[in-house]
Parts: sequence; C-alpha cells; structure tokens
Amino acid sequence: MPESQPSKKRGGHAYGRRNQQMSNTAEEGELCIYSGHSLGRFSSHSMRYDSHQACTRCVASAREGMLSFDVDRLLKKYRPKALKFWSQVDIGSPDECWNWNGVINPRTKQAQFAWRRPGISSSTQHHPQRVAMWLTWGDLGFTGVKTTCGNKYCCNPFHLIPQNIGVFVDNDTYLESFELACQIHTLKQQIAEYVLEEAIKEEAKKAEKLDAELRNGMLLNPDTQFGDRFEALVTDFLSGAHISQLNPDDSSMFKLPTDNDAENPTDNI
Ligand SMILES: [Zn+2]
Ligand SMILES: [Zn+2]
Repeated sequence: MPESQPSKKRGGHAYGRRNQQMSNTAEEGELCIYSGHSLGRFSSHSMRYDSHQACTRCVASAREGMLSFDVDRLLKKYRPKALKFWSQVDIGSPDECWNWNGVINPRTKQAQFAWRRPGISSSTQHHPQRVAMWLTWGDLGFTGVKTTCGNKYCCNPFHLIPQNIGVFVDNDTYLESFELACQIHTLKQQIAEYVLEEAIKEEAKKAEKLDAELRNGMLLNPDTQFGDRFEALVTDFLSGAHISQLNPDDSSMFKLPTDNDAENPTDNI
C-alpha cells in the first residue's frame, strides 16, 4: 500500500494555512481596508503576501509593534463595519479582557462576526479576534492570531498577537501610551454615536411600517368615516404617494428586486 501523501490540492479553507510561515513573496491582491495602502493613488489593489493575503504595508507596521484604534484610518466604507464590530465588544481598560458580546454560534460555540471579504476568505463569518486584529494591527488576511490571556472570547488587541510575522510587542509602552488611550476614548464616543444613529434608524423604520399598517387598516375598514378617508387621500396626494400619481412610465415598478441583479450584487460589508 502506498504511503499516504498530503493533499496537493491548493485552496480549500484559507484559514487552514494560518499556522504556516508567511511567504516572502507578494502579489497584487485585494485592496487593503486601510486608506493609503493601495498600489497607487488610483489603484484598487494592494500588495499582499501570497501565503496569507496579508497587506505588506500592514505587516510592516505590525512588525514595528504599531497598533491603532483609530477608525478614521480605515477606508470610509469600512468605518461603519468597524463601529458595528466594536459596539459588540465590551471595551474595558487596556490590561483587562474585552469580552465578545456579539453572536456566538449555538452549534459550535464559536464567537463569530459577519463580514464578506472576497479575495481574502470565502468564509462570511470570522472569529472576532481576527476581526479585532484586522481593525488594530492591520489587514493581515488570515494570519493566525493568539491570545496571551487564553480567553477565547477576548477581543482586546493588547491580548492578541498576530502569529508568524514577527511582531514586536511592547506591552509596557502600550499601557502607558497617551495616544492609544486617546484613540480608545474617541472610539468609545464614535461607538456611542453609531449605536444611537442605528437605534434612530430602527425606530423610523418601525414608525413607517406602523403608519402604513394603520392607513391600510383604516381604508379597508367599511366603518371608516368619510372625513378620515378624505384626510388620508389628501395627505397621500400631498406627499405624492397616491396611486393615481404613480408614473406608468416609471420602469422601477417592473424592475427586479435588487437581490436578483446579478451584475451588481448587494455588497454586504
Ligand atoms: Zn494595509
Ligand atoms: Zn484577554
């Protein structure tokens, strides 16, 4: 019987390669989530080490022990994602564990955060520790990340060390760093604003739905008084929402739902 051979198949689950040493060759890859890390001013690609899809510029700064909580260093389109992520982390003082308050998969008991990262991983769920690494140490692709505290729900970047890329960790400096303390303070304020804005949006959506339900209920009810019907009609007219005001030429009525639009899939970042 021939000796068993490791599978030569490339690909598979990208995270399987996280324990390997980082390659020293880079290729043009997905755009890094940090601004200023593209190949050129108008490029939509970044250089990434081909083994782990880690952005070369992020690796360089991680090796110097740089980490940052500044959401504004990210490209604009990733900032809400970052705030959404941090709003689910119990951010404490730098030397404490910051526990994950978000989704925990009921089957595997693994903490997870949804983020579509085409070109980096086919998985749409990521471990929050990896996401915390991306948002502080850098866009290091599927570089392994280990905790120094052993708490599998801890998302404190000071307790998370990217593996096999040779990071320089200087904990004393981190804990005394005024700049990092300021960044965490600002981040907390931005999270509070984000959470409030999201709550307001949610309330507005609910109110709109309730409004429409009440309106429909009233118009369909045979006991509704003429005055009420008249008022509903006039308000519809004034807001341009009456059925007679719909433009038959408006092709939007015949458009497919956006979900079916293959050319422009809804980007769920
Ligand atoms: Zn980068
Ligand atoms: Zn910890």
